[in-house]
Amino acid sequence: TDACITAIDAADALNAFVTKTPEKALAMADAADARLKAGDAPAMCGVPVGIKDLFCTEGVRAQAASDILRGFKPPYESTVTRRLWDDGAVMLGKLNMDEFAMGSSNETSAYGPVASPWRRRGDNRPLTPGGSSGGSAAAVSADLCLAATGTDTGGSIRQPAAFTGIVGLKPTYGRCSRWGVVAFASSLDQAGPMTKTVRDAAIMLQAIAGEDAKDSTSAPIPVPDFEAALTGDVRGRRIGVPKEYRLDGMPAEIEALWAKGRAMLADAGAEIVDISLPHTKYALPAYYIIAPAEASSNLARYDGVRYGLRAELQPGDDMTDLYERSRAEGFGAEVKRRVMIGAYVLSAGYYDAYYLRAQKVRTLIRRDFEQAFDAGVDAILTPATPSAAFALGEVGGDDPVAMYLNDVFTVTVNLAGLPAISVPAGMNEAGLPLGLQLIGQPWGEAALLNDACALE
Ligand code: GLN
Repeated sequence: TDACITAIDAADALNAFVTKTPEKALAMADAADARLKAGDAPAMCGVPVGIKDLFCTEGVRAQAASDILRGFKPPYESTVTRRLWDDGAVMLGKLNMDEFAMGSSNETSAYGPVASPWRRRGDNRPLTPGGSSGGSAAAVSADLCLAATGTDTGGSIRQPAAFTGIVGLKPTYGRCSRWGVVAFASSLDQAGPMTKTVRDAAIMLQAIAGEDAKDSTSAPIPVPDFEAALTGDVRGRRIGVPKEYRLDGMPAEIEALWAKGRAMLADAGAEIVDISLPHTKYALPAYYIIAPAEASSNLARYDGVRYGLRAELQPGDDMTDLYERSRAEGFGAEVKRRVMIGAYVLSAGYYDAYYLRAQKVRTLIRRDFEQAFDAGVDAILTPATPSAAFALGEVGGDDPVAMYLNDVFTVTVNLAGLPAISVPAGMNEAGLPLGLQLIGQPWGEAALLNDACALE
């Protein structure tokens, strides 16, 4: 904990930690030490971690990287973080992210962007750590903490993990409680571990998983011993390779990485099979209808009345002006764009054409996966991202869709509710890490984690 606190202070330039809690960390470390000495040692006991700003932490600022929650200190603790503290983990502070987890580069944050600890060889421009869990990825990658929490609605754990050379696991929808996690798109959001190794991901998932009476979508499904499942034996596992993920114009380095992943799994005794997930190309448009629709509804609660930012009233202002001013001042441009798209696709004249249609596409995408699994595929291997990390300011700008394209390999998993993991599996010529994604069967995290070991 001491070493992490020192490292965090020396790494302010990364802008990864937005709230530091060193006194709390030292007190928690002392308590963990006492538990260890008493022989009561859960796996996370004494492990210093960072928490994405999207998690409510009692008495500690949780702003979801938005001005509309400026200075908000929740009066309660999220279930995921509560479980970490119950297990003896140590909180170092809160981590930067895209505003309300909307983004793929951490550039929509009200705290400003995070700089990745990585650089392209011979090019000193700061790179994105990915998003939305960019602070978590940068902090773990730069050794500021041993692990961090992330959340993943369309790739926000896996894409930043891939961009920074760490492991990121999105659990099955319902595996971890969403209680106390600021809602973005409730039918897609899942919390999960961001760690240095697959084994660490197994250990951290163990601590945070399981049914919670406070979240009716958390599942009453037994939580297996994830670490015990890491035998390293993948012989006879059938790994599907979906042809629809072979995109036109995909960089050769991503093609090569995927081939390397297939070879690693085959060398370890797995069987590689070609599969088809025919509705894949509709996933990104469906996601960018469903996620904003749910966001527009979830974000209606930020009205300047109950908590967070309240705009200065002008003479003659009424209640509606208060709402409008507070939301105009408090939300950033990307959040406003999502709220407007969401309100549009849910509106009476367009609901059938957009929202309902996207929901039908979602069902087809889920069926694609079910059919592959029913046909005997155990897991599916794809690249985690269509490229390596890009420079801050390089993508997006006036063209939000260019940024959305980052999520092309990750959103399918959220639409289908499946678990998936991003594992660092190589470097490109510029010396940047690249990640492979393994997609598992529902509730199959134990087998998925074991498969992932073969890629490390
Ligand atoms: N990049 C995606 C988006 O902006 C996913 C974000 C996430 O998973 N939270 O919606």
